[in-house]
Amino acid sequence: MASHSLLIGGEWVAARAGETENVTSPFNGDIVGEVALARPADATLAIDAAVRGFDVWRRTPAHARFAILTRAAQLADERIEEMAQLMSRENGKSLVESRGEAGRSGDIIRLAAFEGSQLYGESLPLDANRGTGFDKIGFTIRQPVGVVVAISPFNYPALLVLHKIAPALAAGNAVVLKPARATPLTALAVAQCFLDAGLPAGVLNVITGGGSDIGDALVRDSRVRKISFTGSTVVGEHIASVAGIKKLSLELGASGPVIVMDDADIEAAATSIALGGYINAGQVCISAQRIIVSESIVGDFLDALKPKVEAIRVGDPLADGINVGSLISRVEADRVMASITAAVSSGATLITGGQQDGTVITPTIVADVDPYSPFAQDELFGPAVAVSTARDLAHAIELANSTAYGLGAGMFTNNLASSIRAIREIESGVVHVNWTQLWRADLMPYGGFKSSGIGKEGPRSAVDEMTEIKTVILHGTPWDN
Ligand code: NAP
Repeated sequence: MASHSLLIGGEWVAARAGETENVTSPFNGDIVGEVALARPADATLAIDAAVRGFDVWRRTPAHARFAILTRAAQLADERIEEMAQLMSRENGKSLVESRGEAGRSGDIIRLAAFEGSQLYGESLPLDANRGTGFDKIGFTIRQPVGVVVAISPFNYPALLVLHKIAPALAAGNAVVLKPARATPLTALAVAQCFLDAGLPAGVLNVITGGGSDIGDALVRDSRVRKISFTGSTVVGEHIASVAGIKKLSLELGASGPVIVMDDADIEAAATSIALGGYINAGQVCISAQRIIVSESIVGDFLDALKPKVEAIRVGDPLADGINVGSLISRVEADRVMASITAAVSSGATLITGGQQDGTVITPTIVADVDPYSPFAQDELFGPAVAVSTARDLAHAIELANSTAYGLGAGMFTNNLASSIRAIREIESGVVHVNWTQLWRADLMPYGGFKSSGIGKEGPRSAVDEMTEIKTVILHGTPWDN
C-alpha cells in the first residue's frame, strides 16, 4: 500500500502531528492508500512555502512556465492508465469514466499553459480625457495574484483539480491545493506530474486532510489572494463568510433542468438524458436532474427513456463493461435512496430503478414529480432523474428557473424561436440546445448563476480571474515643438 506525505516547499513531509489516515474504495472498502492528515498548523506551513514559491515563480518568464507546464502535460498523457486505475479505486467511478477523465488532463494543462503565455494589457488613450495631453503614456499590465488556495471536490478528482491548479500555475501564481478527503490520491498523482516536470519548490503545495478542520486556516489567511473552490453550496457559503477581502471563485451545487418540448426529437432527447442523468452515478454538478417534458408527449418520452436507462450496466468500477460504478460513500448512497423513497411515498411514480446494494444504486426514473418538491428543488447528486410536465414553453422556462440554482440547463426542441427564447430566459451559466447540460469542452467558460456560484472556470476565464490588472501611467513633461 502506497503511503503519501504532504507536499510542502518542494518536499514530501509528514504532518506535524504525525497523523495519517487510510483512503478506501467506496465500492468494497479495500484500502487504496494512506495519506498524511494535515491540521491547521500544516496549512499555515503550506502557505508559508507558497509565499516563498511565489517569489520565485513570479520572476519566472512566461516561456519558462509554458515549458514546464507542457512537460507536465506530456507526463499526464503518459500516466493516463495509472491515474485512471487509481481514480476508479479511490472514487468508485467506472474505469471507462476514469480513463475519459484522466485522458483530458494533459489537454487541460496545455490549454492553461497557452493562456498563461497570453497575459496582455492594453494601452490607454489618456489624451481623450480632458486636461490630459500627449506628455503621458498609460497602459495596463496583467500580473498573477500571488498565493491561490484551491479546494476541490471528490467527484472529478483529476479534472477539477487541474481546472484550478493548471491556470493558476500558468499565470504565475503559487498554489496550496486541498483535495477532497475521499480522493486525495488522484490529486497527489496529478501534482507529481508538475514536480517531475521541474516546477520549482513551493510553487505547488498539496495538503491532505479534513476540510472542516483545515479549511478556515487556508481561507482566512490574509496572504492568500485568491480562493478557487468547487464543492457544495453550503461549504461555499461558509467560505464566503470567512474569507475576508480576497478574490473568490465558487463553483457550487445545482439541480439541473432539461426541457423536452413537444416538437423535440424524443429519441435523441432520451438518448442524451440516459447519459446526462447517470454519468458518474449522477454525482455531477451538471447532471440532468429535473426533466421538464411537454405534457402531451410525456408518455412517449418515458417509453423511449426507460429501456435506455435499464441498459446502463452498474457495479464493480474495475470490471469490464460497467458504465457506472458506486457512489462515493454509504452515507451518500443512503441519502440518495432516502430522497427517492420520500418522493415516491409522496405521490411520484417509480418508473425503473430504485434498488440499492451497498454504495451502488440502480439508475432510477421517477415520474409525476411535483416540480416544487424537495426531490426536484434540492440537489440530488445521485443516479436518478425527476420527470415533471409543463403546459407550454413559458411554463417550462418558469419551472427551469424555479430552484435556487443556475449552473447548466438543457433544452430539446426543433423550433428555433423556442430555443432562442429559452437561451435568453433560462437563468443558468451554460445552456445547451439539443443536448443535456452534461457536456463540457474544457476551454469554455464554465460557472453558475444564483446559488450555483461566483466566477467562471475554463482556462481563459480562470487565468483572467487569477490575475490582476495594474494600471501604469508614465508622466513626461509637455514639450514645445
Ligand atoms: P463539499 O463537501 O462541499 O467538499 C468540497 C471540498 O471542500 C472538499 O475538499 C472538502 O474537504 C472541502 N471542505 C469541507 N468543509 C470545508 C470548510 N469548512 N472550509 C473549506 N473547505 C471545506 O463537496 P463534495 O461533496 O466534495 O462535492 C459535491 C458538491 O460539489 C456538489 O454540491 C456539487 O454540485 C459540487 N460541485 C460543483 C461543481 C461546479 O463546477 N459547480 C463541480 C463539481 C462539484 P473534505 O473532503 O475534507 O470534507
